[in-house]
Amino acid sequence: MKLTEVAIPDNKTMDRLAKNVRQAVKESVPLELRGARYGACVLSTRGKIYRGGNMFSSTQSLSVHAEQAALIHAASHGDPLVRAIAIASDDPTTEPFPCGSCRQIIFENARHSKLDILVLCYQPRRGRPSVHKISELYPLPWPGRESARNHATH
Ligand SMILES: [Zn+2]
Repeated sequence: MKLTEVAIPDNKTMDRLAKNVRQAVKESVPLELRGARYGACVLSTRGKIYRGGNMFSSTQSLSVHAEQAALIHAASHGDPLVRAIAIASDDPTTEPFPCGSCRQIIFENARHSKLDILVLCYQPRRGRPSVHKISELYPLPWPGRESARNHATH
């Protein structure tokens, strides 16, 4: 399956993404005494922005990642397909790349839209994000790039 390249959003949209992803970090629910905050926001194919913060659980396994929260937020508005996802953290020591699970669900969104979703990673010490394509961050999704089996249609 060939994904269509997505252009980097215009400056006004990039500003909106930066503002929303910083707000999503503030709205996250970290562990009580420790743990970084993470936020994400998506730019839908309709041009709308939906954000979500991570919600840590003390069980760890029940934690909801910010990328997942933002994608669910978009889907709950009937606008599930995205062109870009911005990710940020308040931890200046790490680059906020999506984890493996989130790369899978971002790729699954791309599988539906056929768009090579842009992943914008905002490191707190830098003003501009690093820009990646989901096909570069996750070249071998499960159960394969071509498979549409067991996937809901939109
Ligand atoms: Zn994740």
